[in-house]
Amino acid sequence: MFSKPESKFSRSLAFRLTLWYAVLFVATLCLAFTIIYFLLSLEFSERTDRALERQIDHFTAMLAIKDLESVKEAALIETQAAGEKDVFIRLLLPSGEAFLTSSMSHWRDLDVNTKSIRRLLEGDLTVKETVTLQNPGRDVRIIYAFIGPGIIMQYGQSVAGNKRFLAALVRIFAAAMAGLLVVAVVIGWLLSRRALAGVAAVTHTARSISSESLRERVIVAKGHGDEIDQLAAAFNTMLDRIEDLVTGMREMSDNIAHDLRSPITRIRGLAEVTLTTDAAPTDYETLAGDTIEECDRLLDMINTMLLISKTEAGVGQMQLEVLDLAAIVSEACALFSPMAEDRQIILTGHTPQPLMFTGDLKMMQRMIANLLDNAIKYTNTGGQVRVSADKMNDANQICVIVQDTGHGISPADLPLIFKRFYRCDQSRSLPGTGLGLSLARAVARVHGGEILVSSTPGEGSTFKIVIPSPG
Ligand code: ADP
Repeated sequence: MFSKPESKFSRSLAFRLTLWYAVLFVATLCLAFTIIYFLLSLEFSERTDRALERQIDHFTAMLAIKDLESVKEAALIETQAAGEKDVFIRLLLPSGEAFLTSSMSHWRDLDVNTKSIRRLLEGDLTVKETVTLQNPGRDVRIIYAFIGPGIIMQYGQSVAGNKRFLAALVRIFAAAMAGLLVVAVVIGWLLSRRALAGVAAVTHTARSISSESLRERVIVAKGHGDEIDQLAAAFNTMLDRIEDLVTGMREMSDNIAHDLRSPITRIRGLAEVTLTTDAAPTDYETLAGDTIEECDRLLDMINTMLLISKTEAGVGQMQLEVLDLAAIVSEACALFSPMAEDRQIILTGHTPQPLMFTGDLKMMQRMIANLLDNAIKYTNTGGQVRVSADKMNDANQICVIVQDTGHGISPADLPLIFKRFYRCDQSRSLPGTGLGLSLARAVARVHGGEILVSSTPGEGSTFKIVIPSPG
C-alpha cells in the first residue's frame, strides 16, 4: 500500500509557521482566560462569604440588644426583602432542630447539615459550605454560626447569579476566540508569506539557473540586512564563485583544445611529410627526431597541467620536510648559469644566510626554476638576472626575488600572466607553454605564500616569492 503524499501546501514552511502561530495564539489566550476565570470565581466566592459573615454579625448584634421575637421578625423581613428565591434563613437549636424557617419553596431539598452543626459545637466560629441543588439545579452558599447562646443561624445565599455571569463570560470568550482564531490565521499567513518572500526569491533564482544563465542574482533589499538578506547575499556570493569556476573551466578546456591542437597538427604534418616525400634516410631520421621533440613538448604540457591540478589539490599531495631556501636558490643559480652564459646574460645569486622552512623540495625547485627560466628567456643578450633570498621585515616570512633587465610585461598583461596557457604577444615567438607561472603560483599558495610581480616594459621585471617560515 502506498501512503498518500502530503500536499505541497501542508508541507510549506508558511503553512507550518501559520499553524504554529495560530496554536500559540490560541494557547496564550486560553491560558490568560483561564487565569482571569479562576481569579474572578475566587473573588465572587470571597465576596459572598464576606456578605454572609456580615449578616451573621448583624443578627448577632441585633440579638444582643433585642429579644428573640424581634430577631425572628427581622430574619423573615430580610429574606422577603432580599428575595425568597435568593436567600433563606433558619434559626436552629444546638440539636439541629429548626424553630424558625423562612419560606423554603425555592429550597425544598435543602436540609440542615448535622456535620456542620457538630463542627460548630466543637468550637468553630462559623462553618461555610456550598450545596448544589438537583432541583431546581443551582448552587447555594450556606453559613452556620451562633448568633446568641443556644441559637444557631443557618443563612443561605444563592450564587446562581455569579455562576450565570461566569457561564456568560465563557460563552463570550468562546465566540471571540473563534473570530480571533480566523484573524490569527490570516495574520499568521500574511506574516509568514511576507517573511518568506525572500526565500521564494532565492528558490526562484536557484531554479532558473543553468550553466548558460549563471549571471542571474537574487535582488538583495538594501538597508534591512536581516536573515533573508544575508541568505540572499551568501547565495549570490556562492553564485559568483560557481560562475568563476565554470568560466575558469570553460576557458581552460578552450585553452587545452587550442594549445594541444598546434603540436598535434605539427606532429601530423611531420608524419604526412614522412609518408608523402621521397626523401633520403637521413631526412627520415630528422623527421622522426622532430616528431619525438613535438611529442615531448606535448607530454611536458600534459604533465605540467596534471602537476598544477595536483598542486592546487592541496597540502595532502605534498612531501613535507625542513628545507633551506637559500640552498635551493644557490643550486638553481648553479643549474641555470650555463644557460645564462650561452645567452651572454649575467646571472648573480645572493643568499646571505640559511632560511629554514617546511615544504616540498621538488615543488620548490620547480617553482624557482620556472622563474629563472623565464627571466633568462625573456632577457636579451647582455642583460642581467639577479636572484636573492632573504628574511622579510616580518620575521615570520622569507622571500626569493628574481629580477631581470628583460623586455618587461605591459600593465595590461600583468594581471593575466598567472592564468593557464596565457602568453604575452611578444613572447609567442619564444618556446614555452604558458603554464610555468600558473604552476609557480600554485606551489607558492600551497606553501601558504604568494608570488608578486612588478614590471616596467622595456626595463625589466621583478618576481617575488613570499613564503611563511614560522619561528
Ligand atoms: P611561458 O614562459 O611558458 O610562456 P609562463 O607561464 O612562465 O609561460 O609565463 C607566462 C607569460 O608571462 C610568458 O609567456 C611571458 O609573456 C610573460 N613572462 C613571464 N615571465 C616574464 C619575464 N621575466 N619577463 C617578461 N615576461 C615574462
